[in-house]
Amino acid sequence: MKIRYFDHAATTYVKEDVIKEMIPYFGECYGNASAMYSLGRKSKYAMDKSRNKIANAIGASSHEIYFTSCGSESDNLGVKGVAYANKDKGNHIITSKIEHHAVLNSCKSLEKQGFEVTYLNVQPNGMVDLNELVTSIRDDTILISIMTANNEIGTIQPIEEIGKIAHHYNILFHTDAVQAIGNIKINVKEMNIDLLSMSGHKFYAPKGVGALYVKEGVKFEKIQDGGHQEHNKRAGTENVAQIVGMGKAIELIYQDFEKYNKHLLDLREFYFSEIEKQIPNIKINGDREKRLPGNSNISFSGVDAQELLFKLDEIGICASAVSACSTGDPVPSHVLTAIGLDQNLANSTLRVTFGESNTKEDVEFLIDNLKRLTYELRKNI
Ligand SMILES: *Cc1c(COP(=O)(O)O)cnc(C)c1O
Repeated sequence: MKIRYFDHAATTYVKEDVIKEMIPYFGECYGNASAMYSLGRKSKYAMDKSRNKIANAIGASSHEIYFTSCGSESDNLGVKGVAYANKDKGNHIITSKIEHHAVLNSCKSLEKQGFEVTYLNVQPNGMVDLNELVTSIRDDTILISIMTANNEIGTIQPIEEIGKIAHHYNILFHTDAVQAIGNIKINVKEMNIDLLSMSGHKFYAPKGVGALYVKEGVKFEKIQDGGHQEHNKRAGTENVAQIVGMGKAIELIYQDFEKYNKHLLDLREFYFSEIEKQIPNIKINGDREKRLPGNSNISFSGVDAQELLFKLDEIGICASAVSACSTGDPVPSHVLTAIGLDQNLANSTLRVTFGESNTKEDVEFLIDNLKRLTYELRKNI
């Protein structure tokens, strides 16, 4: 059976050219990047090249890039690292209710250690309210952490403005850009970003490698003890092959950015307009304009999204009912709850996220089957 994959926000496949670039570092180039002999220096050189590519893609300098094992680790290091290093200045952090659990649970963990956290509401379209942000700022606020783009509803926050506000009040600004990297253009200097998290497997590199950008001069503490790797901020022998893969993937994506972006937008807009035309009682979640090009999130009222997913899987379609991190009981998504959906509607919601290899024919197949399945599942109630 042909697999039609519409879950690129959960993870992407690894591009052929990325695999090719990595292979030598699984094989003959196995040296430890900290070693002095040439086999080790080869790994160090490859890693530095990748660091450069990643820095270039976001307008940073290469010494501002720290490699990690994933997006979650980057978020932990960014949020906790800043909190620990700036304790003497204050203990208040501002974030939003729609952050990924890597940020939300880092904040929860900091609360247990005596920090205070304000979780900003979002408007029904999924956007943070900048007035609420400003009024939440206190004398002891040390960090604002707001995601660039949401993993469920795709909304893109006004990052540049948030950064400007943060800096006006002398507060550091971290953004979880795991969904945004590769899908929109980011320049950390122009957008006033002090720390930024990314993860390779969301832009066609393998799972298990990420990076944190930290602006030169920003104080943060390591959260894992060990060796002196990554300027003594992230202990552990570097995953050279995957770091090389992540560098290649980011280079490829920004080389062909306009074409990729248009491809995703065309598929998404076609999907939205056909679903609106063909299926009654639906609700598109998240701002229609300020959203990632490949993201769609639609509630089909009266349809059990878990059942829908199961039926879609039977015909080779991969999509998502809630964030890929939630499993078991259909606990309504915290993001959909934050934008005001009731439990029933939240549990009738399907996220479809497009990627490079999707075709219009794939999307037509998806639409035809959604029309049939939502009709059948609604009849059952
Ligand atoms: C996927 C994701 C993460 C976590 O990244 P991992 O590499 O899977 O740990 C964090 N934040 C957002 C917005 C994500 O989409």
